[in-house]
Amino acid sequence: MTTPKAVPPAPPLLIADGLRKTYRLPGGDSLAAADDVSFTLPTGGSVGIVGESGSGKTTVARMLVGLVRPDAGTISVDGRDRTAGRRRGRGARLARAREIQMVFQDPYLSLDPRLTARQCLATSLSLHGATDVDGRIEELLDRVGLGSREAAARPHEMSGGQQQRLAIARALAVDPRVLVLDEAVAALDVSIQSQILRLLVDIREDTGLALVFISHDLAVVQHVTDETVVMRRGTVVEQGPTERLLSAPENEYTRLLLASVPRRGWDPAAAVRARRTAAAGGARH
Ligand code: ADP
Ligand code: MG
Repeated sequence: MTTPKAVPPAPPLLIADGLRKTYRLPGGDSLAAADDVSFTLPTGGSVGIVGESGSGKTTVARMLVGLVRPDAGTISVDGRDRTAGRRRGRGARLARAREIQMVFQDPYLSLDPRLTARQCLATSLSLHGATDVDGRIEELLDRVGLGSREAAARPHEMSGGQQQRLAIARALAVDPRVLVLDEAVAALDVSIQSQILRLLVDIREDTGLALVFISHDLAVVQHVTDETVVMRRGTVVEQGPTERLLSAPENEYTRLLLASVPRRGWDPAAAVRARRTAAAGGARH
């Protein structure tokens, strides 16, 4: 038998290594919003970050896109460190934006109310020096399933789902390598949620875009991610392949999150019991 020549694995697209952000609270106490958070993401990969409210998910997202500077740790894309010796200026900022884009929970707050969908995309494309702006606009609208009627509409004339499609299109306009979605479907109806999730899965398959998908809801994350990071109170309590996490969670907290995920054979009473038991356990300490 011949052993196949070892092919070195492709280096990860995104490496988050030992990220920490501590906030000083009024009164002098400090709070580790995120502490020693590490994960990698291959090109076209998808990682989920889950945890209840306050676990540090948004802090990690903001560090990834550069809205918050980590106190420790590094973030690199394609081997380029985004955190060390940050170059300032418009060119550097735009180059960083092309690496990682973000979609927020509330699209209405992140869209300019004065601009139609078409104008919104044109603005983003021009800012990044795109050629054939009109052609790219049509492509992007098509990509996210917005028609010509929505293209001429302003945010207040759109549904929440349409607004979020536009926010995704605007993020895609710069051809990012990584898209960070922070609770991006949390405010939408369940049926609209699944439409947007399907859209993201398609875009990822077709373009090789990598996703960092953040949600308090493991049920949402399981459909769109290969790997999952479970956070609690700023720290990673468990991480690994999403399938393994769902089938054989090692951590008590992951099991608790899982108990509230509706699946085939899901028993709501068991979910409630698990929560009660955990709450009682917590109260003893
Ligand atoms: P999540 O997105 O998982 O709900 P966050 O990252 O928003 O969690 O918050 C994690 C913790 O950090 C929370 O306790 C929150 O109150 C705190 N926090 C976040 N941002 C700030 C800030 N700018 N100043 C002080 N504390 C903050
Ligand atoms: Mg958050």
